[in-house]
Amino acid sequence: MTIDHSKDRTELDVAIVGAGVSGLYALHRLRALGYRVRVYEQGGDAGGTWYWNRYPGCRCDVESLEYSYSFDETLEQEWHWPERYGTQPEILRYVNHVVDRYNLRKDIVFNCPITAATFDEETDQWQLSTGGGERIASRFCIMATGNLSTPRVPDYEGLDSFQGKWYHTGQWPHDGVDFTGLRVGVIGTGSSGVQSIPIIAGQASRLHVFQRTPQFSLPARNGPMDSDKETAHKAAYRSHREAALDTPFGMSGHPPPTQSALDISDEERQAAYEAKWAEGGSISFLYAYTDLLINKAANDTAADFVRDKIRQTVNDPKVAEKLIPHDHPIGTKRLILDSGYFETYNQDHVTLVDVREAPIERFTPEGLRTADGNEYELDAVVFATGFDAMTGALRNIALDNGAGLTIQDKWSNGPRCFMGLAMAGFPNLFMITGPQSPSVKAQMILGGEQHSDWIAEFLEYMRLNDVTRFEVEQKAEDDWVLHNNDIADSTLYPLANSWYVGANVPGKPRVFMPYVGGFNRYKKACDELAEKGYPGLRLSRYDEMSDVAD
Ligand code: NAP
Repeated sequence: MTIDHSKDRTELDVAIVGAGVSGLYALHRLRALGYRVRVYEQGGDAGGTWYWNRYPGCRCDVESLEYSYSFDETLEQEWHWPERYGTQPEILRYVNHVVDRYNLRKDIVFNCPITAATFDEETDQWQLSTGGGERIASRFCIMATGNLSTPRVPDYEGLDSFQGKWYHTGQWPHDGVDFTGLRVGVIGTGSSGVQSIPIIAGQASRLHVFQRTPQFSLPARNGPMDSDKETAHKAAYRSHREAALDTPFGMSGHPPPTQSALDISDEERQAAYEAKWAEGGSISFLYAYTDLLINKAANDTAADFVRDKIRQTVNDPKVAEKLIPHDHPIGTKRLILDSGYFETYNQDHVTLVDVREAPIERFTPEGLRTADGNEYELDAVVFATGFDAMTGALRNIALDNGAGLTIQDKWSNGPRCFMGLAMAGFPNLFMITGPQSPSVKAQMILGGEQHSDWIAEFLEYMRLNDVTRFEVEQKAEDDWVLHNNDIADSTLYPLANSWYVGANVPGKPRVFMPYVGGFNRYKKACDELAEKGYPGLRLSRYDEMSDVAD
């Protein structure tokens, strides 16, 4: 991109890309500190994930009393969540309430994708371009572009010829879709597929589920908010939030396990799993024992428990066996929470098609054909096929550092970041919940708040020290990436072909992307970095180009 030094451009201190839950809080926090901040959002309104993912059954898998902002105690007390887990419409209503309550909308430009960003070495500013041709110069840029924001539709031959309608769960029509009486195909059985399939089955005259890999799913046990629980939680909200910060996944209410799954009798273990199964929730289940995610034999005890539950739920033993995962330890792919998923296969009009055995060969005008020659006539197809996770959104921007390095080059062998917050070679650029931060492995709103607070304090430090530029030292980044990988390698996570390693996108380098050392440990590292005066980040001023601090 050519650098624009003209005056007819917006001048900012901080440009934020993305008006999801993180970008919104970053705006609120930085504006209060007096920075000139603006958010650029490609969608027509705020909410990020919750704006785009409007598919039937979409719901958060973190309990609503936890999955909410913690920065304002009055907001916390006043907001009432009607259900244990928030539905997409309810969460979007909450997000919009936050946008209005803190008057954020006036500093957000909607329908405005950032298409290119170049760092200007001469002025220490990012030069951003929007889809509409606007030019923005900003000292700092924060990419709050989301981890699961680039939907992926597999490249199927013949899709253009298909005469029915097709949808991706991550780009759902705002006025909804009525499948009543239709022959529907759902491709994909991750969280989005598993949540939507029971609802679509309730409308469709015929439903085919095209499954490549079965996944573990637990009952969510959703229901109306228990008012006693809500009252008790609100009475102690501060201590819940404090406790959440000190957990590996950023959620309170789950006492740390103390025992190995292999140190107790089969009966005791079975009873514990039954209790967790009845309680609902994935953290509670995976946190039953100390070693479920680090020891395969321990993990097998939990996996076998869930496999038996699937067998008990699904009437047809052949269908049940097809629905049982065997290719990955439980929890190493995002553990799904469902409401009646496995029961759906007991309905006569619902058929499971194993596309691992016979892959989808092509779409036809009438539907699709699988490699065994079977033809499926369909009126509508739902792609629940996931996202180019964690790196897709940034790689879609023509992002370069003004000195010949593009993000595509930088990440050609997979993402490399310093604590998921910044990158060597890209001065003055932040990411919120970027690769190699806890991101998707912790409560996302809490992660967004923690990152935004850390960035705010760092900006204040730079302002105080009259600094206009920060750069990540290569060694600091290399050390962090090594640390991230070492931790991942000490767990069972890399054994799964998950989107955590980019396995769902053909050709994507296999790198373990989220930090799985725990949110609490990660936050401590961030806090220590600030306390020590940001070692590993080189600070300078453009008109001096001399170091102001080390
Ligand atoms: P996903 O977990 O990546 O699942 C995609 C599904 O599509 C997988 O079953 C995958 O099979 C299948 N698939 C992909 N390409 C295919 C192809 N060419 N042919 C056949 N099948 C194909 O995506 P997602 O369900 O949208 O969920 C992504 C993440 O978003 C979740 O893990 C979760 O973190 C988040 N999410 C959360 C919630 C919630 O809070 N409740 C809800 C939805 C999503 P393979 O496994 O074989 O690749």
